[in-house]
This record gives sequence, structure tokens and C-alpha cells, in this order.
Amino acid sequence: MPHRDADASSKRARLIILSTGGTIAMTTETAQGGAAMKLGAANLAGAVPRLADLAEIEGRDVLAKPSADFTLADIVAIADAAQAAAETGAGIVITHGTDTLEESAFALSLLVQVEMPIVFTAAMRRPDQPSADGPANLLAASRVAISPASRGKGILVVADDEIHAGPLIRKVHSFRPHAFSSLPFGPIGYVAEERVRFALAPASRPPGLAYGGGAPVVPILEAGPGLETQTVEALAAGAIDGLVVNLPGAGHSAAGAVPALAGLAERIPVVFASRTGAGETLRGSYDYPGGEIDLIGRGLIPANALDARKARITLQLLLSDQADLGQVRTVFDRF
Ligand code: ASP
Repeated sequence: MPHRDADASSKRARLIILSTGGTIAMTTETAQGGAAMKLGAANLAGAVPRLADLAEIEGRDVLAKPSADFTLADIVAIADAAQAAAETGAGIVITHGTDTLEESAFALSLLVQVEMPIVFTAAMRRPDQPSADGPANLLAASRVAISPASRGKGILVVADDEIHAGPLIRKVHSFRPHAFSSLPFGPIGYVAEERVRFALAPASRPPGLAYGGGAPVVPILEAGPGLETQTVEALAAGAIDGLVVNLPGAGHSAAGAVPALAGLAERIPVVFASRTGAGETLRGSYDYPGGEIDLIGRGLIPANALDARKARITLQLLLSDQADLGQVRTVFDRF
């Protein structure tokens, strides 16, 4: 049976495009041969001719920055803009830099829990480059954002005609157009021509968090074999509000660094994540000094299925909202 064009049924749909910067909004080489931020939401929408046939489109410029420059307050500004847009009943597309899209998509899954679709998209190649991917990504993301099938699916990310659950996405290549992955799970749907197809739905909603202001300092310490006590002590001597330790395996530290980590965990939340990229931190399997049973017994908090970057954003939001250690533990227990 031929598929009727979804455009026809969604003519009156409303779409709000929130632009925040990134390569998708860059063009024109600088004297050094690099890209500079040029395009707002209206330019982006105007550059994709078929977009205007899909829906009534409104563009709102929220930020115009490379995404590695975003502060926690910037990410919260994107969340607030998305919340306000969702309250109008429109579908929402957020154009964003690819570099830290995973942190923003994850943060919005904690901060904005609405039925209306909120869809991030981006580009690896700017509009004036051969094989620019921004226009196709924006068109596909817009189709997803106005599709009734996308409602209630939480934060989504659309790139290369794939639909990903926002909380699972990671940037996995530094320059190729196909730069996003949500492995080990994979995309939950795709866009084929004008059709939006979902094969899977996110199993549950992440906990809802609020931003309380400020910018809690939460470094990530990536550990390999032989994590040095001095490295932990140097961080502990600084003005940090929390720490995420990205540990080998299921959450295993060199034994020698454990007293320093445990001492720090008496003062501030110390969360440990698995650096493997899949699975989760264990709780009851390894009972040697530095094993996860030892770390948990000494007050460190397992990140469970969150990777270190997502654990960091979660801890920053919790600390911004004055969460105590018990509240931090309770939230991490939900992942
Ligand atoms: N530097 C860009 C950013 O803002 C990279 C990109 O968008 O691909 O993340």
C-alpha cells in the first residue's frame, strides 16, 4: 500500500525551531580557513525549501555558540526555551553543535518532561561545504517533531535519518558525518522519505530534576591502571563541589588511591562510573581493595548505567539544587 505523504496530514502542524549554534549554523571561512557562527533559526529553516510545506514554522534564536562553550546555565536556557515552546503545543527542533549534544540531550531529559516531541539535530559539515548534512538532518528532525508518533517518547536526536533516544546518544567520531551512536542499544526509529517510523520506545523516563542556579564544579577524573593518590589529592585540594571518577571495568580503582577517594567522599559526592562505554557499574561482584564493593562501602556512589559525562551533568544539576548526599544517592539509584 503506498504511504500517503505525512506532509498532507500535518499541514497545519506547528513547529518551533530553537537554534543554539554549532556547525549547522556556521558558514564562511575565516582568514584562518575556519568556520564562524553565522546562521540563526530563520536562516536555517529558509535554507530547506520543503520545510515550509511541512508546518507553520517559527524560529527562535536561543544561543549562538560552539557547544563546547556551553555553561550549565546555557544548557538550562535551552531547556527553558524548549519548555516554553512545548507549552504552545508545537513540535520542537533544537539545532545544536555536535560536540556536546549528548550532554544537552541528556540534561533536557532530566529537566523537560513533556508530551510534545523535542528533537535535537546537528551537522558535521557546515552549509557551504560539499555534502553538508544540516539541511537533510533539519528536514528529518522536523518530520519527527511534528509526527504524532513521536509524542511521549522523551528527548530525541535525529541525524542521518536515524532517530535516537536522547539520553542514550554519544558522539563517536570526530569528523565523519555519521558521528552519533546510541549503541549498545541502537536507534529507536528512522525517517524514510517523508515517513517517520519507530521500532522501539524508551522503556522509562529518567528522574525529573531542577536547576537551582550557579555552576557546581564537578571534574571527571579518568583513571587507568595505577591511579595515583597524588592525582586524587590534587583535585581534592581544589575548589570542587563533586567528583566523577571514570574507572576501568565495572568500577575498579587502584587500591592505593582508595583512601584518598574515600576521604574525599566524606566531604563531597564522589560518583564512580564505568569507562567501558556499555553495561553499568557493578555492586556486589568484586570484593578486593579498590573493587566496587570496597568503593561503595567507603561512601562512593555508583553511577550505574550512566557514563561519566552523564553522571557529571546529573551531579551538577543535583548540587545546583542543594541536594544532600542521600538525595544524590537516591537519584543515581534510578539509573
Ligand atoms: N564545534 C561544533 C560544535 O559546536 C561542532 C559541530 O557542531 O559539529 O559542537
